[in-house]
Amino acid sequence: MLETLRKIVQEVNSAPDLESVLDVIVRRVQRAIRTDVCSIYLLDQARERYVLMATQGLNRKSVGQVSLSLDEGIVGMVGQRAEPINLENAAAHSAFTYLKGTGERKFHAFLGVPIIHHRVLLGVLVVQQKLIRKFDEAEEAFMVTISAQLAGVIAHAEATGSINRISEQDKTESDRKFEGVSGCIGVAIGPAVVMTPLADLDGVPDRRVDDVKAEVSKFKSALSQVRRDIKKVGRSLAKRLRSEERELFDVYIRMLDDNALGGEVIARIKEGSWAQGALKQVIGEHVKQFSLMDDPYLRERATDIKDLGRRMLTCLQESGPALSEIEFPENTILVADELTPAMLGEVPTEKLIGLLSVNGSGNSHAAILARSMGIPTVMGVVDLPYTRIEGLNIILDGYSGRVFVNPSEDLSQCYQDILREENEVNAGLEGLKDLPAETTDGYRMPLWVNTGLITDVARSLERGAEGIGLYRTEIPFMIRDFFPSEQDQTDTYRKQLEAFAPRPVTMRTLDIGGDKPLPYFPIVEDNPFLGWRGIRVTLDHPEIFIVQIRAMLRAAEGLDNLRIMLPMVTNVQEVDESKRLIEQAVEELREEGYTINQPLIGVMIEVPAAVYQVRRFARRVDFISVGSNDLTQYLLAVDRNNPRVAGLYVSYHPAVLKALQFIALEAHKENVSVSICGEMASDPGGAILLMAMGYDVLSMNATNLPKVKFALRGISFEQARELLSQIIVMDNVDKIHMKLRQTLQELGLGQLTRPTIPD
Ligand code: PEP
Ligand code: MG
Repeated sequence: MLETLRKIVQEVNSAPDLESVLDVIVRRVQRAIRTDVCSIYLLDQARERYVLMATQGLNRKSVGQVSLSLDEGIVGMVGQRAEPINLENAAAHSAFTYLKGTGERKFHAFLGVPIIHHRVLLGVLVVQQKLIRKFDEAEEAFMVTISAQLAGVIAHAEATGSINRISEQDKTESDRKFEGVSGCIGVAIGPAVVMTPLADLDGVPDRRVDDVKAEVSKFKSALSQVRRDIKKVGRSLAKRLRSEERELFDVYIRMLDDNALGGEVIARIKEGSWAQGALKQVIGEHVKQFSLMDDPYLRERATDIKDLGRRMLTCLQESGPALSEIEFPENTILVADELTPAMLGEVPTEKLIGLLSVNGSGNSHAAILARSMGIPTVMGVVDLPYTRIEGLNIILDGYSGRVFVNPSEDLSQCYQDILREENEVNAGLEGLKDLPAETTDGYRMPLWVNTGLITDVARSLERGAEGIGLYRTEIPFMIRDFFPSEQDQTDTYRKQLEAFAPRPVTMRTLDIGGDKPLPYFPIVEDNPFLGWRGIRVTLDHPEIFIVQIRAMLRAAEGLDNLRIMLPMVTNVQEVDESKRLIEQAVEELREEGYTINQPLIGVMIEVPAAVYQVRRFARRVDFISVGSNDLTQYLLAVDRNNPRVAGLYVSYHPAVLKALQFIALEAHKENVSVSICGEMASDPGGAILLMAMGYDVLSMNATNLPKVKFALRGISFEQARELLSQIIVMDNVDKIHMKLRQTLQELGLGQLTRPTIPD
């Protein structure tokens, strides 16, 4: 059965459009379980009806013609119950509705299973048989498995179909909506520009060209280049290879001929596609054909074709204009399969208004950077056929995490209004810069910022930041090709320290691993967030740690505003060891003649183990800072990067709130200052609760600092304490959100809550 399943899934995956996807499913499933009928009914959301979309065994003329309402027939029952229904004689069931024109009267046995993708019902897969008999357990299990496996493919094919209808001339589809999660609040309206990772064929967007001749010649020179490369590799390995292995190189070269792959690509270019897109299509089709073959040797050839495709793509990309030469349109919305911090720097800032990532979630580091830059961002739009949307107009709603492709005039107008309101709110907040974050009853709350890029510094100072609560030192490491030298690091750190002096600057030691790999220091693990990350890496590499500490200390010479912070600490030994290395660096530098003052040292509370040792840590360090982004991920066992579970990553989860309150109380028992530098402090509602819990400093992204200040200036400390006492006993996250929103509105801070957006 497993082999049959594998083949069906592969064949379905290679079908070019929704119609063929459904057709393959009904044909193959009918054959696999030797039944008389297999049909698929898809749910048409707009009409609220199940429509017969494909069948093998019923009258084909009824495809697209017959439909059922949501509560009609056994198909309706399968959908409502969201479980399989297996009947030996469907006609005898009270819910049975005969679908005229289908010819189903002669069939008795009925098995329907729902097709569900990410909790959304897409339709119902049905098999029927003339005999009066129940489908057996193995058949039922097979149907459930196939439906679960194919739901994603069907959802993707549906989405691609609707996008294709937009790309075609008639533009029939509008307001096509895709769901993701918020990465940075705000609204952006503009054309999509898809960023292709290098040598990734699947990520190549569809694009049309006018100058076909130039495109063909570009492709031909890429072909010659690849031919030359292959010949060269073949020659250099000739002595070490057997003759049949050497022949493989000739096979490769023949595949590139005009009457083979090369010719097929050129034919596609002549139809108007750009060379990279034509190459992607041709290679994709061949790879699929080979993957479907029974013979394992021939199946393996798919790898060769993929490799050839990648080589040709690399040549094409290298011969194309460099990213820096590309003319980006005004109001660019950058789209990527996986947005990385490095990509954010590729588009000129004045043109970039929005970011959209198919993978990742609101707590991925790319999203955190986007927030610090204030660019509306949506993450984890997993069903978006992103390679098909190049150049299409998009509304990106960073409040709700939704994306609309080809929006209608009405919807665009609605979002234009929200944009206008947003600008008014921001303009109103500008006057707060020099005012303190002081509650209406005189409680003063220091507001610091999180930084990573040098551009953050100017923005932070403009917005009235009183210190840096988290400088993510790994960011300058991430945008280089090798470890920066001690002098390089000293120069970079000095800029942050100098710009803020005499205000404090908290530098976190290198926090790599998890979702922050360094291109030149790959860490490959099955469970990166539970693996080698943060302090674990740097303690294993004292040569990296000490160089970084020396650079920090040298950079702070004469300024005296450095605080050093240790990430991902789980036990006191890590703190003791780090302190010993810091001490060593201080001593060394003093011996070398530098005037070094002892910096303040702190630890981050980011894992549950640290929560229960706050007092032990507090006795060893000068300050405690909570990394609520990681703490939430580890407390709730939710990968902060995984869009599938993004809905479970809840900052206001009762367990998270309890832990945050506990940490503040425990740190204060040892008279140690406690701050928070996770994203929760950037949310006006979160900031109010954290102030009430007793946090001494809130550190946040510069974008949100004025909003947080506005919120704190609009509430009394007493009111905040009262709000916390009500929220901390609640057990329902939705009610907590509602209570926060309602309180902000009652205090006249309603403009800080999410704007109301049409559904
Ligand atoms: C955190 O985990 O809350 C934190 C501030 O660190 P980062 O987001 O960089 O992991
Ligand atoms: Mg962290």
